[in-house]
Amino acid sequence: MTAVMWFRRDLRLEDNTALKEALESSDELLLLFHVNTDQFLEEGSLNQAGFFKSVRTLQEEIEDKGGRLQILYGKLEESFQKLKDRCPDWTDIYVNRDEKGYGLKRDKQAGKLLNEMGVTAHGYHDHHLHSAQEILTNSGTPYKVFTPYFNKWKEKQKPDKITVNWNAEKIIKDQLFEEDQKQFEEFLSQQPNLESVELGTEVAHERLSEFIESHLSEYDDARDIPHKDATSRLSKHLRAGEISIRTVYREVMKAEASKSRETFVQELAWRDFYNMIYATHPNQKEQSIKEDFRQIDWDNNEDNFRKWAEGKTGFPIVDAAMRQMNETGWMHNRLRMITASFLTKDLLINWSWGEKYFQKMLIDYDAASNIGGWQWAASTGTDGVPYFRVFNPTTQSERFDKNGDFIREYVPELKGVTGKKIHEPSKLTEQEQEEAGVVIGQDYPEPIVNHKRSRELAIQAFENSKKAAGKSE
Ligand code: FAD
Repeated sequence: MTAVMWFRRDLRLEDNTALKEALESSDELLLLFHVNTDQFLEEGSLNQAGFFKSVRTLQEEIEDKGGRLQILYGKLEESFQKLKDRCPDWTDIYVNRDEKGYGLKRDKQAGKLLNEMGVTAHGYHDHHLHSAQEILTNSGTPYKVFTPYFNKWKEKQKPDKITVNWNAEKIIKDQLFEEDQKQFEEFLSQQPNLESVELGTEVAHERLSEFIESHLSEYDDARDIPHKDATSRLSKHLRAGEISIRTVYREVMKAEASKSRETFVQELAWRDFYNMIYATHPNQKEQSIKEDFRQIDWDNNEDNFRKWAEGKTGFPIVDAAMRQMNETGWMHNRLRMITASFLTKDLLINWSWGEKYFQKMLIDYDAASNIGGWQWAASTGTDGVPYFRVFNPTTQSERFDKNGDFIREYVPELKGVTGKKIHEPSKLTEQEQEEAGVVIGQDYPEPIVNHKRSRELAIQAFENSKKAAGKSE
């Protein structure tokens, strides 16, 4: 039987459910990645550059192992038709299913096409420890709040790693789509340069081992400190599937039991939780989940949005965080919370603007976790931060970047500032500014809003929306 293994966000040759099944069931196997031109993001996207660098890395790995990853480039329908024309004996296709968002939409479209072509599709759950339907309340409904979800999640048996028996003999090695490969190369050459970002399965394994050996035991204490290299940094590998979530879980569970290990595993459960929430709320990318907060009168000031995106708000922790993301394609979790809260509450800008900007810039962009994180920070999600608990960016900065080391790393204008005023440089006297080599309002901006006042306005806007929702019921 001639089959196709269609890689999507499972870019690895090990512990991969669909690949295992495809290799075991077929006589001849075509390894495929489809570059879907309908899915392209705007120019300059680090997310897109990172993802396709991962695809290229997989292609090289497969070549090293004596196989070939064939690239199809274009719209889904035309690409699959081309595949059938060049490979007429093709009867079966293997995929790891997507449960929500664009992936689900694409899978439905592909399912219809494949059916018309007489190709049998085999889909597997692979991306999460537990699928969106696996963890339900006792009455069979999806959870809305994380803690009870986690309590059930913890009790459930976790899947084991899967052994893939790689067999290069079976892989179709002729280049069937030379033109598409050229288009892919051309497309890659137009992406932002990510030379310093290391991707691929091998790198993911090195990072996992280093994290378990050197950082896991301190995770509980240190994971909130942006200046420390204390978290796993596995997100960019997980989102492209360069390492399997089962492998991460099983390896971490080999470490000695501790509070830190439990906290880390809880983060993996958040990943499953947000996947389930997106599957349950398919409109959540465009719509606030909480009906009470669908009528907020957002300010949506474009100038303020640009300042936030560029890291020029005059709030050093916010600016350092945004610059970290713009420069490296990654932002620390604590800072994602701070910057998202600042955009939605201090600037009263619709959370979806921020969600889209993160989509463009995060190499670890994962729609479910990003939308989940944004709706959490904006208080519009199922289990969001209460709308009246507005983060104070200055006290967050004092607490999590005590000495200002992180700020100094990403906001060089403030390098010379010492002491507590690093968190509030607008309070520097003229003499202090001179000593620090910075002129506030010139080299580094004055705060673009007054936090105390913004907080009051935000709470009012949320309460107004709540009232309006009540009236229209
Ligand atoms: P670690 O602390 O080492 O955690 C291990 C893994 O657990 C992560 O790699 C990730 O897969 C998962 N995880 C950890 N925290 C969360 C969480 N809160 N929600 C879901 N999964 C989690 N994560 C993404 O992977 N992609 C995103 O696009 C994304 N956008 C976010 C946007 C906002 C506004 C917020 C508040 C959070 C977002 N997160 C996102 C969650 C979290 O910030 C990142 O997963 C984490 O910072 C990645 O770094 P790490 O791998 O070192 O994490």
